Amino acid sequence: MSRELAADLHPETLTIGFGYDPATALGSAKPPLYLTSTYVYQSAQQAKDIHRAFFERSTDIPGLDAAFIYSRLNHPNLAMVERRLAALDRAEDAAVFASGMAAISGLMLCFLSPGDTLLFNRPTYSGTDWMLHDHLPRLGIQAFGFGDALDEAAIRAAAEQAMAAGPVGLIMLETPANPTGVIADIALAVQVADEIGERQGRRPIVSVDNTFLGPFLQSPLNLGADLCITSLTKYCAGHSDLLAGGVSGAKRLIDRLKQQRTFFGSMLNAHDCWLLLRSFETLHLRTERACQNALALATYLREHPKVGSVTYLGFLQSDGPGRAVFERQCRGAGSTFSFEIKGGEAECFRFLDALKVLLMAVSLGGAETLICHSATTTHFSVPAERRRQAGIGDGTMRLSVGLEHVDDLIGDLAQALEAA
Ligand SMILES: *Cc1c(COP(=O)(O)O)cnc(C)c1O
Repeated sequence: MSRELAADLHPETLTIGFGYDPATALGSAKPPLYLTSTYVYQSAQQAKDIHRAFFERSTDIPGLDAAFIYSRLNHPNLAMVERRLAALDRAEDAAVFASGMAAISGLMLCFLSPGDTLLFNRPTYSGTDWMLHDHLPRLGIQAFGFGDALDEAAIRAAAEQAMAAGPVGLIMLETPANPTGVIADIALAVQVADEIGERQGRRPIVSVDNTFLGPFLQSPLNLGADLCITSLTKYCAGHSDLLAGGVSGAKRLIDRLKQQRTFFGSMLNAHDCWLLLRSFETLHLRTERACQNALALATYLREHPKVGSVTYLGFLQSDGPGRAVFERQCRGAGSTFSFEIKGGEAECFRFLDALKVLLMAVSLGGAETLICHSATTTHFSVPAERRRQAGIGDGTMRLSVGLEHVDDLIGDLAQALEAA
């Protein structure tokens, strides 16, 4: 399937075949798994040509898309999965990494230099939080956060602070945020990036972590972002059996990331690329069913006397500030949300220990429903003060709704809430 044809096809079609050509593998209908670390050159001249093509990023040598050197540089299963992800995100290109954090840390280290600053919206994924508050400062890169990403004044105030400390190289959004579902306005961040660019003579790159909704429910690049980050571990892989991360966007940016990745050695291995190719085929169906189940569970929990609040995106107030942005940016409410059990840690722990069907585990986006107590697990390493700022209390539970029969899930929640 050519790129030209792909532009006219729906994502549900692209996830099934795009990025793999059976003619390259004896007609095999499904992609083979290429288990090799190195590739044999056809001739000395061809060896020179493909090295030049790879390191100079030249595209004037025909057929070199399909030429490989060494699996840390590129390999066939990686190339297939990157083409498929790029098509889904409607991007020129994509880079796939060994995990979501390999993608995020790689992106930060690729586009920021000592003395730079960056802007981000709170709360943020705990791994990203660690990079922002522990690692980047050691490299002389300061991060400035804003708490309400719908509030223009708050973003501009953070931008002024950042510009006073050094050139802003990056604006990192995570929307909806983990685990509170807080929405950030992507178009507003893009506008602020343009203004900062005019003032400092270098436009910051705008990236959006799209993990919580995934490619079928939100397309940050269509909303003006430069780079879309996805922890493919979650919805895209969808079976809780591998880790992977992706960044998609313009070729000139993705090229820089891939070049760095070659030397960091953080590419995804062939086997997990192959599993991801298979997972992409059912992503739209899984997304749809998980969203239906999530709506039913959120509705059940909202009515329960032991539940204080439910931060499910589908319940955003119709006159609240987040609603208009949600409707502009998102094609669905997703299937990960949090809720508050009245009381605190003790009530939550009694509830969790009574569950029989739901699995108590971190992560999200798998076929099975997962639940965890945010303050003592995913946000354990985030200092209490930043947790509170982010709206994570002692009773906050995060639920990633899976594909089981909805009655079994509600039945399990009901009996465990008795114990809370
Ligand atoms: C899980 C997650 C990540 C990190 O991905 P890994 O694949 O676990 O490294 C980043 N951002 C968000 C929003 C996540 O949920």
